[in-house]
Amino acid sequence: MKQRALLLVDLQNDFCAGGALAVAEGDSTVEVANTLIRWCAARGEPVVATQDWHPANHGSFASQHAVPPFSQGELDGLAQTFWPDHCVQHSEGAELHPLLETSGIDFIVHKGENPAIDSYSAFFDNGQRQQTALDGWLKAQQVNELIVLGLATDYCVKFTVLDALKLGYQVNVITDGCRGVNIQPGDSTSAFMAMSAAGATLYTLADWVETQA
Ligand SMILES: [Zn+2]
Repeated sequence: MKQRALLLVDLQNDFCAGGALAVAEGDSTVEVANTLIRWCAARGEPVVATQDWHPANHGSFASQHAVPPFSQGELDGLAQTFWPDHCVQHSEGAELHPLLETSGIDFIVHKGENPAIDSYSAFFDNGQRQQTALDGWLKAQQVNELIVLGLATDYCVKFTVLDALKLGYQVNVITDGCRGVNIQPGDSTSAFMAMSAAGATLYTLADWVETQA
């Protein structure tokens, strides 16, 4: 028996136009998300949203290490890209996009709360040391298939999808509902290829709506 859920990754102000870590065309994902929120509501399928949710002294912030944003280093033994300060808990930048139809969201997962480690995936931190509440919530709803979109393709979407596949979910990625950081040109394309190679199925929104019951 197939039980699907929609998983919206980090559709937050700081990743959209004018935000601290704005992703090119990040705002364009919101309309795709809203279409799928309505699509899922019509089928009784739950909707989950994640929020990157950092304390102000988070170790992924370049400001904490006096290094330039987007430089590479190490955090608690793990390779780390240092980011501009973003998605600080309770700040406007951490809020979900104002045009996102949040009344259709059933559950919100926070990640990145531990200042000592980053958390790209919505399921685990980057060291796979601690788990969020997401897998438990989905299992309690008997969910075994996910529709995933969000920001950013090459970090939080990619690692959420890879972890979901490892946890045994069937995963569908809506490509036009994702946008990437692309520190290196082509990072988003590589991320989609990695998700596909690991077992995810990629759709455009139009393909998804046309092919799914
Ligand atoms: Zn973050």
